[in-house]
Amino acid sequence: MTTVRLLLGDQLNPEHPWFDRVEPTVLYVLMEVRSETDHVLHHAQKVLAIFAGMRRMAAQLEARGHRVHYTAIGAPDNAQGFEENLRRILAETGATRFEHQEPDEWRLDRALEAFRRGCGLPSSVVSAEHFLDGREGLSTHFHGRGGRWMMESYYRAMRVRTGLLMAADGKPEGGAWNFDHENRKPWKGAPAAPRPWDMAHDHRALWAEIEAAGVRTFGAPSASCFPWPVDRAEALAQLDAFLERGLPGFGDFEDAMHSTSDRLFHSRLSFALNVKLLSPREVAEAAIARHQADPARHPLAATEGFVRQIIGWREYIRGVYWARMPGYATSNALGHDLPLPAWFWTGEVRMNCMRHSVGQSLETAYAHHIQRLMVLGSFCLTAGVAPAEVERWYLGVYIDAFEWVEMPNVLGMSQYADGGLLATKPYCCAASYVSKMSDYCRGCAYDPKDRLGERACPLNALYWDFWLRHAERFGDNPRVGMAARQAAAMSDADKTAIRAKAAALRARIDEL
Ligand code: FAD
Ligand code: SF4
Repeated sequence: MTTVRLLLGDQLNPEHPWFDRVEPTVLYVLMEVRSETDHVLHHAQKVLAIFAGMRRMAAQLEARGHRVHYTAIGAPDNAQGFEENLRRILAETGATRFEHQEPDEWRLDRALEAFRRGCGLPSSVVSAEHFLDGREGLSTHFHGRGGRWMMESYYRAMRVRTGLLMAADGKPEGGAWNFDHENRKPWKGAPAAPRPWDMAHDHRALWAEIEAAGVRTFGAPSASCFPWPVDRAEALAQLDAFLERGLPGFGDFEDAMHSTSDRLFHSRLSFALNVKLLSPREVAEAAIARHQADPARHPLAATEGFVRQIIGWREYIRGVYWARMPGYATSNALGHDLPLPAWFWTGEVRMNCMRHSVGQSLETAYAHHIQRLMVLGSFCLTAGVAPAEVERWYLGVYIDAFEWVEMPNVLGMSQYADGGLLATKPYCCAASYVSKMSDYCRGCAYDPKDRLGERACPLNALYWDFWLRHAERFGDNPRVGMAARQAAAMSDADKTAIRAKAAALRARIDEL
């Protein structure tokens, strides 16, 4: 009697109930396959991090007495796909049962369901025991309520349900659900940005194996000094370092960007969370415990802001994914169709903000939320880049990019491609925002204050052209109606000049 249990590359939670007991009849199967590395072009660090995490997980399970079957990327019998490898392993081991955990990606969910049905063995799928809510939790929350799916409504329900940051009288701690108005400061060097909590692994041998297997990637592998955590102990150490050094400034500077720091006070915990080395509940609880122990050092505004990202946004985004897939992938409500500029793959662009954010993404596989949303995303939105092209780039480049979380963030929040299901407004900006929230404009080849001249910042004409193009759709929107109406109220000559400038920018978008 052998039960084969498949573990995917983002199912690296050693605390899963599967591992509570050592069962000699159970064989845990992990495999590095080209079907996963190749379905989109991935950043080198992402492939390295997932393979290194899987290998560490396999070694730790074996050390605890579990039986493990590991297929390395270069193994001669690796057929480079889950189904083919599984069929072979089931046959070779004489398996009598097949089990796996719920995948987070729609594509894999369907593929594994089909495999289960066709494998000829009794089989089952169990929860990955990670998220606070079920896949259908968000649609259930909004069932019968009509209108937009407001994150804030869901977040409050999650606070009540989990009891996190709730006072004994059932009211939110501190008397408010949200302290965002306190969290919008630019960062000018003080307090000092925290010392990074990166790891420094040497993954050169693994990188050589990946290259030898012919896996195509982009971005810097940083294999000799690899920064990401690959097991739970390392992830816990990073959580601890963030809470101690980053959380105190997280709230105040959540929206700030600076050329001297790629993360400022952000946690960089998304990879560890998304591959399930950490659970969202433990991360939220640990932040709250710091706040309770020392509210002066870990203020409520910072703690609530951080907890909202984890138990609010993260769960909400996942709910949108499961409610709207598979149709969501092709959303394009604004009908945008420009190709992604070539410099997204090289970082070679004169616009300082873009060069910095793209360059950093290629170098580190990381950018924080505001760089993703208000620099890169806003540019693509106002320029009118095809959302599917934007989405594939984000899915490839970021260390934490898994489709369930990346796709709604890109298509919904950043590109408004779902027509406003997720975002209450299009998130876009002109140079004034970048100039206020970062130091990128200093020394840029473009002038942030100019709209139409030779050196005018491209963001300005693209921004106003966006509102001109979509004035009708957004004129009544309470959050951005003013900008749309302002654009509509321009003189005909101004409108013509903006449109001509934007068209010229689009025509040479690869040379900006
Ligand atoms: P912090 O700022 O320290 O936040 C703490 C945690 O909150 C994050 O680790 C993350 O788990 C969670 N979180 C915060 N915002 C969100 C959000 N909008 N959706 C889901 N979780 C959130 N996040 C991903 O995990 N994977 C992605 O592929 C991804 N793609 C994005 C694409 C776009 C266009 C945008 C606007 C956001 C995207 N995000 C994505 C959300 C967010 O930007 C990242 O989670 C965050 O930047 C990761 O860095 P951090 O760990 O330092 O986050
Ligand atoms: Fe970006 Fe424009 Fe500022 Fe240059 S001037 S950094 S292009 S916002």
